[in-house]
Amino acid sequence: MTPLERLLREMIAEEGPMRIDRYMALCLGHPQHGYYITRDPLGEKGDFVTAPEVSQVFGELIGIWTVAQWGAMEQPERIHLVELGPGRGTLMADVLRTLARAAPALAAAVQVHLVETSPVLRQKQSQALGEGVTWHARLEDVPEGPMILLANEFFDAIPIRQNERRDGQWRERVVGLSEGGLAIGIGGIVPGPMGEEGSILEVAPFREQIARHIGERLAGHAGSALIIDYGHLKTAPGDTLQAMRGHQFVPVTEAPGEADLTSHVDFEALAKAFGAGGARAHPAMSQRQFLLAMGLEPRMAQLAAKADAETGAVLNRQKARLADEAQMGNLFKVLAVTSAGLSTPYPFGP
Ligand code: SAH
Repeated sequence: MTPLERLLREMIAEEGPMRIDRYMALCLGHPQHGYYITRDPLGEKGDFVTAPEVSQVFGELIGIWTVAQWGAMEQPERIHLVELGPGRGTLMADVLRTLARAAPALAAAVQVHLVETSPVLRQKQSQALGEGVTWHARLEDVPEGPMILLANEFFDAIPIRQNERRDGQWRERVVGLSEGGLAIGIGGIVPGPMGEEGSILEVAPFREQIARHIGERLAGHAGSALIIDYGHLKTAPGDTLQAMRGHQFVPVTEAPGEADLTSHVDFEALAKAFGAGGARAHPAMSQRQFLLAMGLEPRMAQLAAKADAETGAVLNRQKARLADEAQMGNLFKVLAVTSAGLSTPYPFGP
């Protein structure tokens, strides 16, 4: 039993079953035992590998997108470059290197703000990025102003709630005790739309709150946001809560605090929340479409031309991992959000 499981059992024994969002928040962010608080989960030796960790080209292409956005914003002389949940700082390092090469004036204009709750990962980010970046626990603490915001695999880690249709009613899914262990159960009645018996509906008020807040910032100052995550373009019923440990899926109640616990992002709901804040969400696309449109093939070919055959094969595998439909290409989606008045950025525009 993990130390967090012992605590959770006590809490549930005293207070009764807990909602999924509370369970997720404790598993990921408990001040002593939270998954992200106690470790760097990334990499082959960790629990999962993210796109920036697969290849530097991922961050380079996002760097190119960032340059284009800055152009659309008429090149403000000071601009906040904000990243939510920067992991090891790899994406930001690749973006900054690209800005320094492709747009030195932008590299000089950016102030980097990292929104990160994990002390372990802040340490890694500091190693990757050196001086001159500022950390914040919440987006609310980042100063207002022209902004470009990036978030890769951030929203999936923000807690959700789940409702299950039983006897013609929606009931909140909860984590309770069963024969002493943790188990998913059914709690109180909650309002909701019509639905098929047995179906599960996920709602993500915390995600939407963050998206709405970003939308409000983009309504107040010129800017853009790029959101990349696994998920679906249209709201649909289904249980997407997942726990991952050592690159394997495990039951969501199996190792609280020692497995990553996430769910797929509903990009339709997220886009609406950005809109409610006053920004413009452009039609989302797959990571495959985005990366190919941004020049994944030529950039990989350029690197391969300078490399030996063995490295060439590695580059090919990385490209496939990022963009193949059976790998990250289709599951991951990319959503661009801009201030309502900004011109539509390629490749999101018509
Ligand atoms: N973007 C990185 C890391 C993804 S893992 C990459 O692509 O490699 C999720 C990241 O979000 C971690 O850095 C984690 O510590 C951070 N995180 C999770 N919940 C958070 C929260 N509520 N506030 C801020 N950061 C959070």
